Amino acid sequence: MRYIPTYFTLDELVCPHVYDKFGETAWQFFDQRLLITIDLLRERLNKPIFVNDWQVHGRFDERGFRCIQCELVKKAITENRLYVSPHMTGQGVDFDVQGMLAEEVRVWIAQNKNILPYPIRLANGVSWVHLDTRDAEKGKVYLFNP
Ligand SMILES: [Zn+2]
Ligand SMILES: [Zn+2]
Repeated sequence: MRYIPTYFTLDELVCPHVYDKFGETAWQFFDQRLLITIDLLRERLNKPIFVNDWQVHGRFDERGFRCIQCELVKKAITENRLYVSPHMTGQGVDFDVQGMLAEEVRVWIAQNKNILPYPIRLANGVSWVHLDTRDAEKGKVYLFNP
């Protein structure tokens, strides 16, 4: 059975290109571990979490699933750069938590890693929270330098 999050809608988690083409069937592109993890964090932090806001005319449209029509990906293709971001494999999201700095969120997650159902990675030193489900063998919460 596919996991559909309680606290996130699909348009928050995919780019407009994918949403327009695939609609709700785009849930299939996600790693279930990612969806379960962000839902659980939202519940346990008990604060709003913001990923994309393009659907409400905001500026964020590449913080969830990215396709080859997304600007960051098109740029990589133009520069002939290999690009296999977890954002392209349904394994990663970028987000902010209302009222918390990204570093505070990373510290909270590390301190509460026992509640996490799956190992995750967090990008170190960035002003947003990047969370993905790659490299699961590296430990429950693995901080990597992007
Ligand atoms: Zn796209
Ligand atoms: Zn990211």
